[in-house]
Amino acid sequence: MRLIMLGAPGAGKGTQAAKVAAKYQIPHISTGDIFRANIKNGTELGKKAKSYMDAGGLVPDELVCDLVADRIAQEDCSRGFILDGFPRTIPQAEALDAAVEKLGTKIDYAVDIEVPDENIIERMGGRRACLSCGATYHIMFNAPKKDGICDTCGGELVLRDDDKPETVKKRLDVYHTQTQPLIDYYSARGNLLEVDGTQGLEDVFASIVGKLGE
Ligand code: ADP
Ligand code: AMP
Repeated sequence: MRLIMLGAPGAGKGTQAAKVAAKYQIPHISTGDIFRANIKNGTELGKKAKSYMDAGGLVPDELVCDLVADRIAQEDCSRGFILDGFPRTIPQAEALDAAVEKLGTKIDYAVDIEVPDENIIERMGGRRACLSCGATYHIMFNAPKKDGICDTCGGELVLRDDDKPETVKKRLDVYHTQTQPLIDYYSARGNLLEVDGTQGLEDVFASIVGKLGE
């Protein structure tokens, strides 16, 4: 199964993508996690991406499209994958179409998690991210067992720099102008699945599985 997750920043893409990846045994590919790992390791890509991320903008398409095309061509993606945070622009969606076509396959579904902007600020303020393994928590809605420590890898949990309210507002603007048009893009292709993301975590997951099939 080849899937992409759509939705505003903080809609729950990463949370649900991890659960979907585990259920269907496919790799979870988060471009945000790839950039954060590169920033942590001080790579050239990380240095280039950081200024855009900190400002709440998008990293330029040319820095992300080839990276994803290479990643989905790897052996572990031969049975499918779930992309989280990519595509975020129409040119990225077109690049993805070209990349999957080259592999002789196609995107099966775009899962759009719908959450109004009002709910997003609350979610982002409480989000805590593990910079070691990428796992995501929420201090109220999905708390780790031990405060500040990742359940999965024991890493330290942090409030991401780009989750501060002023940056979240900018990211929402960017989402509405650059990413939201992808909903029509995938709807026109007949493979859009829409899910109410204001439900609890497990109910959102059940809705997604209900649409994808067991
Ligand atoms: P995205 O990957 O779309 O940016 P995340 O999956 O990181 O979003 O979720 C953003 C924050 O909201 C996290 O702190 C997460 O734990 C929390 N969250 C995710 N889904 C829900 C939900 N259905 N209800 C409440 N909080 C949620
Ligand atoms: P995320 O972890 O998906 O919330 O992404 C965090 C940040 O990484 C975004 O605000 C962007 O600056 C950058 N980013 C992640 N994925 C992409 C992408 N597909 N295109 C451009 N920028 C991206």
